Amino acid sequence: MLKQTIQRWERCISASRRRGDGHTKRKKHLFGKWVRSMSSSTIQSNDNRTTWDSVPKERVECVVIGAGVVGIAVARALALKGREVLVVESAPTFGTGTSSRNSEVIHAGIYYPLNSFKAIFCVRGREMLYEYCSKHDIPHKQIGKLIVATRSSEIPKLNDILNCGIQNGVDGLKIVDGVEAMKMEPELQCVKAILSPLTGIVDSHSLMLSLVGEAENQGTTFTYNSTVIGGHLEGSEICLHVTETDRLTEWKGTSILQPELLLIPKLVVNSTGLSSPVLAKRFNGPKSGVVPPAYYARGCYFTLSNTKNSPFRRLIYPIPEDGGIGVHVTIDLNGQVKFGPNVEWIDSVDDISSFQNKYDYSVNANRAERFYPEIRKYYPNLKDGSLEPGYSGIRPKLSGPLQPPSDFVIQGEDIHGVPGLINLFGIESPGLTSSMAIAEFISTRFL
Ligand SMILES: Cc1cc2nc3c(=O)[nH]c(=O)nc-3n(C[C@H](O)[C@H](O)[C@H](O)COP(=O)(O)OP(=O)(O)OC[C@H]3O[C@@H](n4cnc5c(N)ncnc54)[C@H](O)[C@@H]3O)c2cc1C
Repeated sequence: MLKQTIQRWERCISASRRRGDGHTKRKKHLFGKWVRSMSSSTIQSNDNRTTWDSVPKERVECVVIGAGVVGIAVARALALKGREVLVVESAPTFGTGTSSRNSEVIHAGIYYPLNSFKAIFCVRGREMLYEYCSKHDIPHKQIGKLIVATRSSEIPKLNDILNCGIQNGVDGLKIVDGVEAMKMEPELQCVKAILSPLTGIVDSHSLMLSLVGEAENQGTTFTYNSTVIGGHLEGSEICLHVTETDRLTEWKGTSILQPELLLIPKLVVNSTGLSSPVLAKRFNGPKSGVVPPAYYARGCYFTLSNTKNSPFRRLIYPIPEDGGIGVHVTIDLNGQVKFGPNVEWIDSVDDISSFQNKYDYSVNANRAERFYPEIRKYYPNLKDGSLEPGYSGIRPKLSGPLQPPSDFVIQGEDIHGVPGLINLFGIESPGLTSSMAIAEFISTRFL
């Protein structure tokens, strides 16, 4: 059935290319309400009265929108339960969004408020991830981490963090005094620390590759270069509007943009990361006012050059800062040392640019000046000139600067009123660690 969908879709796309101008006429007729104004950078939303009769339409059991680590894990979990799954991804391959722009840390689950989704999914996801990585030979290492207080005024905060971790059910946490911590890590400077032995690192690309392979073996179809641009209700069912991503790239905003395929799934998971809120706003039918506001915080990394060996064996984290968990030391599986990510609040981009991942990922070399003093608080021997710009990722946040941190949001019918539609919002860190637990939750709760 899904293979037929894709083949039919491909036929439709090549036919539309052959049609040329005539096709534009048809688009105007069908999608008159979908004109992008010259001055606006977003597409106007579709009208309920619009008819979609001449657009190919397919029924699919489950659609997952977005092939980041969370979407892939969800697709695998649904497929393992015997469901027919189609993953629609706007990029040419999987995992090119936030899932390939992070610290690749398997978090223990320490920082998050008791009983929050972040706490529950991180602890469960970490257990599932270690088990999965061991079973499938995914490169990973349980190297442990130290959360460090670099001055005595930070010790109360360190104790709070410890209590929070214990309440969340993180095993093995213990306070070590400065001398002991500095014996464990001779380059470290601190007055006290929490040792978290369960923290580790993982090769996130190998993880995603393995999850994709497993999902495909269970019959899941991944369609790349395909973007969901909106949706409407047919009766009580959501009908997704899908188009080739290339059409968005070519689209100048002066012509009419129409879907090339309508998908009617029984279950749809909006797992589009940074785009989730903007895509949800383009679904015509769910209750209004339920999509949370989106904020974006870029996190830049600098790598350590001129150093043959890593100065640290474990991950080193300072006390968390507003919007992130501090400029920390991460070591990847190749031994490369990275410092970051910092927190830079950035503006959103319009919806179509978001679907194409047109965010500003640049790392300003001048920012190194701010990194040196931060890092030297716990690594005083950091040499001048040793930091080189690395890469950056953007956190899909639901709370803005100086607001309390928000939890992951998983919205089902009870919130927005549409059966079978699940929106995932604010899946920032620890989303990589939590991915398999989120997938387990969705495949248990919503099937
Ligand atoms: C700087 C940084 C550091 C982090 N460090 C860690 C860490 O160490 N440990 C940890 O556990 N977590 C970490 N995280 C969090 C983790 O990376 C994310 O939670 C996780 O990758 C989110 O995965 P996702 O699948 O939800 O989103 P994404 O990976 O962003 O995937 C979304 C996908 O949807 C696609 N898409 C978008 N719009 C559309 C559309 N309209 N139609 C079709 N497809 C679409 C995108 O192309 C993309 O592939 C970090 C995050 C950041 C930013």
